[in-house]
Amino acid sequence: MKIDEKRKNLVESLKKQGRIKTKEIEKAFLEIPREEFIPPIFKQYAYSDTPLEIGQGQTISAPHMIAIMCEELDLKKDQKILEIGTGSGYHAAIVAKIIEPNGQVYTIERHKNLAEKAKQNLKNTNIKNVTVEIGDGSEGLAKYAPYDRIYVTCAAPSIPQPLIEQLKDPGKMLIPVGGTICTLYLLEKNNGKIKKENHGGCAFVPLIGKYGH
Ligand code: SAM
Repeated sequence: MKIDEKRKNLVESLKKQGRIKTKEIEKAFLEIPREEFIPPIFKQYAYSDTPLEIGQGQTISAPHMIAIMCEELDLKKDQKILEIGTGSGYHAAIVAKIIEPNGQVYTIERHKNLAEKAKQNLKNTNIKNVTVEIGDGSEGLAKYAPYDRIYVTCAAPSIPQPLIEQLKDPGKMLIPVGGTICTLYLLEKNNGKIKKENHGGCAFVPLIGKYGH
């Protein structure tokens, strides 16, 4: 089967499962080639709905998890987004497509070589509205704050205070909290108040750093 056909089949299956619900998210999954964000040895698995190793003991998340996070974040065109944990750059690329034409994704990764590879992957796929930074994302990324949306792609021991401060009002944040087996929380900031909602169990690599594990 051709790779484009495999991509379409995965998107159809994510729609049937109710993971992809909106047109903009469907379009982004159809347009971003996941095979360009993984090591060549795993290309045949690019459209399996599973995490894959990308080096440094880290993984590119499973497509269904990325779809769930995009839907729950309620992304809108032209927003300013912060991602903690760039990994391969694939999740950032999907979000960047959804918030085109004037939206911008800022993403931070603690492993320099993963960040450099992600930059290359984004360049190869012609994604221009993602800025990759190297550093400890558990402290957020103050220089571009505040953000309309923040999402964390690794599990934090608790919700880092700097991330709450760097979220716009109104704004939404998605963050897995716990160990490898963790709980996804949606935080909503509104009129200075924070509402926290449990969005179910999940599995993520740990957030390492000042406000991490
Ligand atoms: N979103 C990524 C993708 O599409 O490939 C997958 C991210 S992976 C599940 C989680 C990433 O978070 C890893 O690359 C890991 O190195 C990174 N990470 C962990 N702690 C971090 C921190 N304090 N700051 C920045 N990145 C961190």
